[in-house]
Amino acid sequence: MRAAPRRLRESRMFAKAMLEPYHPILAHIIPIRRCNLACTYCNEFDAVSQPVPTAEMLRRVEKLAKLGTTIITISGGEPLLHPELERIIARIRSAGAIATLITNGYLLAPERIKKLNRSGLDYLQISIDNVRPDAISKKSLKVLDRKLRWLAEYAEFSVTINSVLGASIPCPDDAETIARRARELGFTSTVGLIHDHNGQSKPIDEYRRGIYESILKLGTPLFSFAQYDRFQKNIARGLPNRWHCRAGARYLYVCEDGLVHWCSQQRGTPGIPLEDYTVEDLKRQAGVVKSCADYCTVSCVHQTAMLDAFRETPRETLAHMMRSRREIDPSFKPPALVKALDWMFLRSGNKRLFEKLALRLLGVTRGER
Ligand code: SF4
Ligand code: SF4
Repeated sequence: MRAAPRRLRESRMFAKAMLEPYHPILAHIIPIRRCNLACTYCNEFDAVSQPVPTAEMLRRVEKLAKLGTTIITISGGEPLLHPELERIIARIRSAGAIATLITNGYLLAPERIKKLNRSGLDYLQISIDNVRPDAISKKSLKVLDRKLRWLAEYAEFSVTINSVLGASIPCPDDAETIARRARELGFTSTVGLIHDHNGQSKPIDEYRRGIYESILKLGTPLFSFAQYDRFQKNIARGLPNRWHCRAGARYLYVCEDGLVHWCSQQRGTPGIPLEDYTVEDLKRQAGVVKSCADYCTVSCVHQTAMLDAFRETPRETLAHMMRSRREIDPSFKPPALVKALDWMFLRSGNKRLFEKLALRLLGVTRGER
């Protein structure tokens, strides 16, 4: 019951992405660069930064909402170190966007989880790197399992646990242990492939690929874009992806200094202050060809690209998703949502009807900024 209004807002986000090509689908904002951990593979933290003043963060949220942003994700550094994080989340919600949070989970406790509930948080993601802490990362199941149990007991928001696989991960079996524990607690699980310091992929060996595929078989719904993934499949095999990255338009990365970058791995470009960012910037950046695209591992940008692929070539994209899913599970039958999408987008004449329905039922208006 609690998830129903969230699902409606997600449908609204989806409908808007189908109707409009230029608003940002997803923006990441950084309220603090400091982190309480120091994972050796990470290039997104420091040990000294102060929190961005709350008034400034609220102004950035307002500006993103004005550009039509539908999902705003808070990450860091470690965002739970920001003393007024919940005010920022509440403002995202009151601005009409979906509010998500990426954290290492160390600072979660029952009271903090209840505070996050009250703020209106929609989604929380924790990345867990190993079963036991090691020299590379302390984000381990051993340390975090108690936090996960608290989340299972108190959280009113959706929780996703992300495990990682990569050539440099010493115990690859840990990823499956973590994914199974996540599902046991009723959470969604995803698996990410580790990248180098420019966000570029490194192929994984056959053993690790086997683990990756068995995590995908854990019963992921077809429309978890985080898991349907032609991108990840190629990355795992060391193959390039042919796609058009619309970072700077469909996806924005707003750093702690309030500058818009393509993504966390390509900071510095375009480097325009968010307060000066315009619809013209969105349109221009949507057309820029990025030389880093072939071996890119930035999965949140891939996900926005999948929505655009669905908007531009719905029949091919849906057919491809079904094929990928059946490669994992030959007995897979399409759920009601897929049948609904087939009806909405693939039967002649219904697309227009769907557009009208979306406009009326979901309250989506064209060109709202
Ligand atoms: S917890 Fe996250 S932000 Fe902090 S060092 Fe590790 S990967 Fe980086
Ligand atoms: S392709 Fe896009 S998302 Fe990937 S690293 Fe380059 S700019 Fe970032």
